[in-house]
Amino acid sequence: MKILNFGSLNLDYTYQVDHFVRPGETESSVSRTLNVGGKGLNQSIAIAKAGSKVYHAGAVGKEDGALLLNTLKANHVNTDHIRVLDDVASGNAFIQVDPHGENCIVLYGGANRSMTKGFIDEVLSDFSRGDWILLQNEINELAYLIHKAHELGMTIVLNPSPMNEVIRTLPLQEVSYLIVNKEEAEELSEHADHPLMELASRYPDTKIVMTLGSAGVDYWNGKEVLHHGCYNVKAVDTTGAGDTFTGYFISCLMQGYSEADVLRLASTASAIAVTRNGASASIPEIYEVLSSHL
Ligand code: ATP
Repeated sequence: MKILNFGSLNLDYTYQVDHFVRPGETESSVSRTLNVGGKGLNQSIAIAKAGSKVYHAGAVGKEDGALLLNTLKANHVNTDHIRVLDDVASGNAFIQVDPHGENCIVLYGGANRSMTKGFIDEVLSDFSRGDWILLQNEINELAYLIHKAHELGMTIVLNPSPMNEVIRTLPLQEVSYLIVNKEEAEELSEHADHPLMELASRYPDTKIVMTLGSAGVDYWNGKEVLHHGCYNVKAVDTTGAGDTFTGYFISCLMQGYSEADVLRLASTASAIAVTRNGASASIPEIYEVLSSHL
């Protein structure tokens, strides 16, 4: 069984500013940091660090894509299915952070929005029945991807994040695993009293993970709801907690761990991740998770 993650690759430029730039103003920033990200990239790295071989498909720009490709390769993610495009920049975010820690963000989809049906067909031709595919909501052509992967008999995992109107247009009944946080579950269930059970009854063939931040996780495995609490750690940066959970959940499930162990290992990995700064850089390796005493 192979796992393909068809997802976003982003360059995040963060500028520390005294105040957010006003119309017509030019403001100097004393610090700029560049981080790699995108839910796609973070989740591929989480899967690899959890010990599974993962193939990432997506696209970057020729001029600025090297850092993204090199980061994936350094983390043992296969990059053979990533297109390098001449005419468009890699997806990027321009983030201003003020002294109060508030931010404002301009997001440019760039290469992440350049998926075509032809490219998807080409990538999927290297995969077959029984292989797994992971998707988030930061690339275009998601409905086509789900449809084709389903036709091929792949196990489809969808993390519909960020939640927007696109998600409602997708054939969610074809998804095998839906991984949502609490807010996404509420929105998707149209604010039902019990979002998880509402989604479970709407999509009877779908197993559903609902992460609850510091309240842990609920998992509908098709028969019952399993709960795992959150480990008590000193959180310094929760960015990427969800991506860590998703990557570990899939990898551990594919490695054959029991459902209870999958939830325990994914919760341990994301608890470790929130004790560190950064997104993909904060994701622990499997040996750290297995030897953790949380
Ligand atoms: P993000 O968007 O910040 O990546 P998310 O909203 O997708 O996260 P959460 O539900 O916040 O996902 O968190 C995912 C998992 O991470 C939780 O189920 C829990 O196991 C772990 N986690 C989150 N916050 C904490 C915390 N403060 N301490 C320990 N573990 C945490």
